[in-house]
Amino acid sequence: MSELQQYYEACKANQWVRKDETECGCKGSGWFLSQVDTFHSCPLHNTGQPHPEELYSEEPDWEVEREIERRFKGTDDNEDEQSVNDDMNAGA
Ligand SMILES: [Zn+2]
Repeated sequence: MSELQQYYEACKANQWVRKDETECGCKGSGWFLSQVDTFHSCPLHNTGQPHPEELYSEEPDWEVEREIERRFKGTDDNEDEQSVNDDMNAGA
């Protein structure tokens, strides 16, 4: 058994579980993220928390995405460049 596999088996066997949630591998969140990027449900502290990867895979908030795009890809690009040049000239 490789070292990595041994580690994974130890994770699966809940060897990271501690009664005290501050010492527990899940840190009280209910899910333990192993060093090999696998999530393990905590038998003591998982009281129905959703799987962390489900949270990550949520659709992006498109309203926010559009707003960010508006701000960073504004139509005043040329004006901005001009003002940067002015600043540089003023400093020289
Ligand atoms: Zn725990």
